[in-house]
Amino acid sequence: MIVEPKVKGFICTTAHPEGCKENVRRQIAYCKEKGMTEGPKKVLVIGSSTGYGLASRIAVTYGYGADTIGVAFEKESNGRRTATAGWYNTKAFEEFATEDGYYAKSFNGDGFSKEMKEQVIETIRKDWGKADMVVYSMAAPRRTMPDGTMVSSVLKTVGKELTNKTIDLRNNEIKEVTVPVANEEEIQNTIKVMGGEDWEAWIRALVEADVLAEGAVTLAYSYIGPDITHAIYKDGSIGQAKKHLFETSKKLTEEMADHGLKAYVSVNKALVTQSSAAIPIVPLYISLLYKIMKEEGLHEGCIEQMNRLFTKKLPAGETDSEGYIRLDDWELQENVQSKVSELWTKVTTENIGELGDIDGYWEDFYQMFGFHYDNVDYSADVEI
Ligand code: NAD
Repeated sequence: MIVEPKVKGFICTTAHPEGCKENVRRQIAYCKEKGMTEGPKKVLVIGSSTGYGLASRIAVTYGYGADTIGVAFEKESNGRRTATAGWYNTKAFEEFATEDGYYAKSFNGDGFSKEMKEQVIETIRKDWGKADMVVYSMAAPRRTMPDGTMVSSVLKTVGKELTNKTIDLRNNEIKEVTVPVANEEEIQNTIKVMGGEDWEAWIRALVEADVLAEGAVTLAYSYIGPDITHAIYKDGSIGQAKKHLFETSKKLTEEMADHGLKAYVSVNKALVTQSSAAIPIVPLYISLLYKIMKEEGLHEGCIEQMNRLFTKKLPAGETDSEGYIRLDDWELQENVQSKVSELWTKVTTENIGELGDIDGYWEDFYQMFGFHYDNVDYSADVEI
């Protein structure tokens, strides 16, 4: 099939197998160039197929020399439609890692479910004995609860409605958006989907089954951001879930002290991923942020962030006073944020091309689905 991008708003419904492979190849090449450091050798990554989770998997394999088990929820091709990008990424990662002599096994299915936890536990027991690191990077719109009911997360504000600028990704138009207030049930559901409950369930299940090594480390990811995005993110419904995630990290470290477990939340930089593209206001902020961070020579993508996390910040045990690992340190620098705020007040449909890095935003977007790589022949027939 000749695969072309089919973009609908903030999603692309096709993915290019060769381009996804190129994405993984480039991330691996970056980590190989950066070199190895001492670290965990048996790493479970939950949410391992795209964005920060995929980059984590690559960073620990090529930064620590670790074997990995990945869990993700992706769609396989049915012969007529392409698979999802995460499906192709996973396949490519397994191929490269295996070629380089690393164990890489992946599970495709619902990470929230008890069945998935049991399958992974059995595999760890059989193949490794114990895991020594667990990365939790799942970003899901909804969750099937153990009783079969479905709960959905929402991207809304808390307390009062918000009107601010946003970009309409269908036509790059800058306009105003009003984000409604989440009610209590929506907030609680968002916490159930994106908070720490499932992370805790994974860790408890692994410890109870005796497949998590003493002194193991676990990490989950969060975002804080600047004032511009606080109402929609940090103080919004998703932010309430992220607070719960952080409280869970404290609770896990405290309650599993006997086991020597250390649970961290790493606050990462705002980047184009399938999840962040869905948040109102954030994509416009990202395109202005990219512009400034690239000008200042501070720009990083997922792999640069994850390589810095696993080879620098985590080994050094570097946290802020609250206990967060801060990979948003460069994003939140005063010289970066003062310039972004200034652009925010000025940006319009007419000047976005000049003031923001809208081309950089779209380039990252297409590349996430395996498109726009200069060394991939998109006119060629590919096996999907
Ligand atoms: P992403 O959409 O690229 O990745 C989500 C991953 O979760 C994929 O591997 C997907 O397959 C998996 N997944 C979704 N539902 C699942 C399910 N039911 N079972 C198993 N796997 C499932 O998202 P991302 O942006 O990389 O987000 C990962 C984490 O990083 C999230 O906690 C997010 O809040 C955080 N984060 C993101 C940003 C950003 O700007 N993108 C910034 C800071 C922190």
